[in-house]
Amino acid sequence: MRRALITGITGQDGRYLAELLHSQGYEVFGLLKGQNNPRSDMVQAELPFVEFVAADLQDLSSLVAALEQVQPDEVYNLGAISFVALSFKQAELTANVTGLGVLRLLEAIRMVGGSVNNPIRFYQASSSEMFGKVRESPQVETTPFYPRSPYGCAKVFGHDITVNYRDSYGLYACSGILFNHESPRRGIEFVTRKVTNAVARIKLGLQETLVLGDMDPRRDWGFAGDYVKAMWLMLQQDEPDDYVVATGHTHSVRDFVNAAFCHVGLDDWEGFVTQDPRFFRPAEVDLLVGDATKAHEKLGWKPEVDFEQLVAMMVENDLQIEAAKAGLKVP
Ligand code: GDP
Repeated sequence: MRRALITGITGQDGRYLAELLHSQGYEVFGLLKGQNNPRSDMVQAELPFVEFVAADLQDLSSLVAALEQVQPDEVYNLGAISFVALSFKQAELTANVTGLGVLRLLEAIRMVGGSVNNPIRFYQASSSEMFGKVRESPQVETTPFYPRSPYGCAKVFGHDITVNYRDSYGLYACSGILFNHESPRRGIEFVTRKVTNAVARIKLGLQETLVLGDMDPRRDWGFAGDYVKAMWLMLQQDEPDDYVVATGHTHSVRDFVNAAFCHVGLDDWEGFVTQDPRFFRPAEVDLLVGDATKAHEKLGWKPEVDFEQLVAMMVENDLQIEAAKAGLKVP
């Protein structure tokens, strides 16, 4: 039985990836940080097959111990401070976890290593935020980086150190440059889930307004359930490499808001939405659109859920959740 260790097991991607690996017959281990991690009970109930291992991306010796204990075939590094807005407020923490955390995990892998015939394979969750103020469109694996936030800067370090350890020490290390990917499990702090949750609550009469920041930025939004398949495929190849994972389609925040309101029949939605400077960022990423041709050709990967389906899936899920909480029927 193959064994996989996932950092960031309590996040959106960690949970989809755990389900995928479990369905492929893996033994799945999840790295859990902190004392009384508030999400552990929820994740254990949702994914009873996952075995938790206590360790922290800020603590090298805990990572070495985790690898020695689990003896994984594959390590997926999805753990990070992942919210761009928070990274501006806690830049040093972001650099430490999202950036240096990658270095610590790579060092731990070098120390523990796996066997000569079966070295540990490593996946790094890189991000389209590394492209930031984009130098070309669409963005591909060779597009130069120009990060626009402490999060983006930390991800550039994580990406570069992954490539460097592959080049320097021959590690089987891959970096997946994933564009924004969403789902009903997306955290409420991200704009997509914030919007679908608010739209559901407005439709149910539980909320009156949705307060947003800049609605002009454009993102290449895909479905997280599709994207974790690309992560796994990267680690099944003969040679490690880096891949862009994206849909190739870009929409503005306003497009997303429009699609979500229209899905519940509130086509005339402008009156429900206001803007507040507190949700604007010190520096913005205006446009992201990826070209995943390499992933299509080498991994045989392509997205299955399109933009409209993604919005519908998220709104429907939030309608169910919010109606159940309020003891209402979904209209
Ligand atoms: P990001 O692409 O990783 O930063 O993902 P987010 O979902 O946090 O943000 C996507 C875009 O939505 C960014 O350009 C934000 O500036 C924009 N945005 C506009 N209003 C909001 C808001 O209220 N919350 C969030 N999270 N983003 C917003």
